[in-house]
Amino acid sequence: MKSPELPYADTLKCVQCGYCLPACPTYQTTGNETQSPRGRINLVRLVAEGKISDESLLEGPIDLCLGCRACEEACPVGVPYGEILEQTRYLLREHSTKRGLGQRVQTAIYRHLLPDKGRLNLLGDFIWFYQQTIGRWRLMNRLLPLREFVEIMPKIEGPIVRRRKESKESIHARQGNKKVMFFRGCIMDVMFSSINRQTTELLRHLGWSPIVPEEQTCCGALHAHAGDLEFSKELAKKNIMAFEASGARVIVHNAGGCGAMLYEYKHLFEGDSEWAERARKFSDSVQDISQIVASSEQGKFAKAVDAVVTYQCSCHLNHVEKVKSEPVQVIKNLPGVTYKQLPNGTSCCGSAGIYNLVHRKEADAILQAKMSDVKKVNAQVLVTSNPGCYLQMKLGIHQAGLSKQTRVVHLVELLAEASGTAD
Ligand code: SF4
Ligand code: SF4
Repeated sequence: MKSPELPYADTLKCVQCGYCLPACPTYQTTGNETQSPRGRINLVRLVAEGKISDESLLEGPIDLCLGCRACEEACPVGVPYGEILEQTRYLLREHSTKRGLGQRVQTAIYRHLLPDKGRLNLLGDFIWFYQQTIGRWRLMNRLLPLREFVEIMPKIEGPIVRRRKESKESIHARQGNKKVMFFRGCIMDVMFSSINRQTTELLRHLGWSPIVPEEQTCCGALHAHAGDLEFSKELAKKNIMAFEASGARVIVHNAGGCGAMLYEYKHLFEGDSEWAERARKFSDSVQDISQIVASSEQGKFAKAVDAVVTYQCSCHLNHVEKVKSEPVQVIKNLPGVTYKQLPNGTSCCGSAGIYNLVHRKEADAILQAKMSDVKKVNAQVLVTSNPGCYLQMKLGIHQAGLSKQTRVVHLVELLAEASGTAD
């Protein structure tokens, strides 16, 4: 690797104060400086200066970073850690001479599965078939790799139901003053199709006219976080064009990870004469569903929830898109809710894209710390706002033996219950 290509100038902004250390989950669980933001920034700088020639010393700590961006918010001098991380991952990937089988498979899945709705639907059909047949026997699940995830996975809607409801959503491009483009995501639209449908129902309930353009595709977040910036730009362009053609002025999402990526398109195309302005308009139109609900009439939510509720935020919704107060506000406003704040509720749960699948041991240590906080609030409902966090929290609740007393829900599911729009 040629050192000038690393984000060297940004690393020099770090004054080594260490204020970011308490915010970093990998530092908190390992106590290891190289697993801290400051340590990672230093390593990038030292490699860029040629003081470390063995790049593998950089690869490990960069690979084990969650990309949660909590350190960025804690930093008093505004070190752009997210940019340092993404640029370093991009360069490590570009210059890597030995791409292992695992990385090739990951790239193939990211490039050929996630953006392809037809293939994703086929995968959904396969999982649905498994869940309806041999997956009913717990013993069968225990033989599988990632068996714990298989056990806590939500029941996928059947092929006919999913496709029928999908086409019904697509033709809902009504003309109206409050047109909104709904960003449906890739995995979200197969694994959590009922939550997507509840989101568009909720929008209608609140007086909006949701449009779900067929031309939209995966947001590109997983690609960008893996260093495949070129491909994430291709996906971003398709989404920008779909939005422009939709005629909507607002883009709503219900997944924190996707939303943050949509919000960052403006940074992705900085300096690009053709796309920078279009990307800025797109990003400035992005809103999380909680922001839409927070600005709506509270009378639309009349059914009492009657439960102690707590909230684990999505890191990217919180630290990148900066949507902080709205999800809490809308939960607190629901009738019958007793809200209890989750200690360290803004700290990562260990999901982080596919981190919990590829770094099981490290993600598990982070999840155990999270669960000790969850036990302190003893809530009946634990709300999340991202599919990865939802599965990770379900896994933690399952492992802690709390499944009978605490249910994990997506914010939209709770809002659908309170508005009477749940199916
Ligand atoms: S992004 Fe998260 S895990 Fe990575 S250094 Fe920052 S706080 Fe630590
Ligand atoms: S990243 Fe920011 S908070 Fe962390 S050590 Fe550097 S200057 Fe301090």
